[in-house]
Amino acid sequence: MTLSYLSLGSNLGDRLGNLKSAVAKLREKVAVTSLSSVWETAPIDCPAGSSPFLDMVVSCEHEMNERELLAFTQSIEKELGRPNEHEKNSPRTCDIDILTFNDECVNEPELTIPHPRMKERLFVLAPLRELQKDAFQFGKEYASLLDAQEVRLYAPAFILQQA
Ligand code: ADP
Ligand code: MG
Repeated sequence: MTLSYLSLGSNLGDRLGNLKSAVAKLREKVAVTSLSSVWETAPIDCPAGSSPFLDMVVSCEHEMNERELLAFTQSIEKELGRPNEHEKNSPRTCDIDILTFNDECVNEPELTIPHPRMKERLFVLAPLRELQKDAFQFGKEYASLLDAQEVRLYAPAFILQQA
């Protein structure tokens, strides 16, 4: 069994509804074991005029290998309306990034785990910290981002429990 943390983000359409749908679709193939709160954050490195994001992190247990998990999360992005071809950092109905895969490292052109930019993003570290509590390993990075990036609590996790 593998424990993975996934980050989910949306800044297009019904953002909360998109996150709920993504969690429901994840549950079709993985056991979602915890959900963070939903955080709202200003877009970073996005085209001018992009809307704010809702972001969250979930933990899940599953039997997939790394490629299967990526194919599965990408199929959910697509079902939720994300076009195959998209500009980097363009607005998205749903983005699912694989943060971790047990303690494994993957370095392939299409897949890097742990996710290479997770330590630079408060919108990933804040919800991850909620879930990992004492096991959270990025305290230093988290503290240094607090001054530089703004995220705010948007909705508690239970809003998504019934998804
Ligand atoms: P971003 O999430 O950085 O905004 P995209 O969602 O458009 O960018 O992802 C671009 C590519 O990143 C995907 O096609 C996927 O192959 C690759 N990728 C590499 N590592 C990961 C990862 N850990 N999780 C999800 N996608 C990844
Ligand atoms: Mg992505």
